[in-house]
Amino acid sequence: MKHVIRYPLGQMQANCYFFVQDEKALLIDPGDSADFLLGQIQTMKLELVGMIATHGHFDHSMAVGEIQLTYPQLPLYIHPNDEFLLKRVVKTAKHFLGYDPVAIPIQSMQKMLEGQIRISSANWRIEFRILHTPGHTPGSCCLYFENEKVLFSGDTLFKSGIGRYDFSYSDKGQLKQSVQKLLNLPSEITVYPGHGDETSIEDEKKIIQQYF
Ligand SMILES: [Zn+2]
Repeated sequence: MKHVIRYPLGQMQANCYFFVQDEKALLIDPGDSADFLLGQIQTMKLELVGMIATHGHFDHSMAVGEIQLTYPQLPLYIHPNDEFLLKRVVKTAKHFLGYDPVAIPIQSMQKMLEGQIRISSANWRIEFRILHTPGHTPGSCCLYFENEKVLFSGDTLFKSGIGRYDFSYSDKGQLKQSVQKLLNLPSEITVYPGHGDETSIEDEKKIIQQYF
């Protein structure tokens, strides 16, 4: 049994997702409310087996350090091109939120590059593909679960929109290529974006022209 749970968290209402497979949970973009997330894991009797940030922005990663206080063995998977963003996470968060957030430093990281990732133990495994989709940030990635026909698109592709590309480290041309890469995936895929409601590749293909 597999399913996806969405929690829009914090002032930025970034979507944190649980990808759940047989009581094993993969946490995607834990950006805020670590206590709440840990409580949900306990309440649902889940085993937390992995943490992934689609990119390094604070609203997608700021709860990681606090969660690692409870799960010290659990690294954060993140693309190396976005590690610089994690280093200035408190400064950026202060700029956007208007106050000094409490961010516990991330203790353990695992480099995540384009390609297949397998998180597994003796009797179970969760497999998915990392698509490197730079543009919004240099290390933005999407998680593609081919068998389940599910894509977690971070801040690269939204329902009826694409990610911001006005940061100093953003790249509009790269973002366009990355969005195109996603729209070449099968139409029936359900897309879970970093903000807002879910969509599908099919629906987004219809309105790509207005994006750029
Ligand atoms: Zn972002």
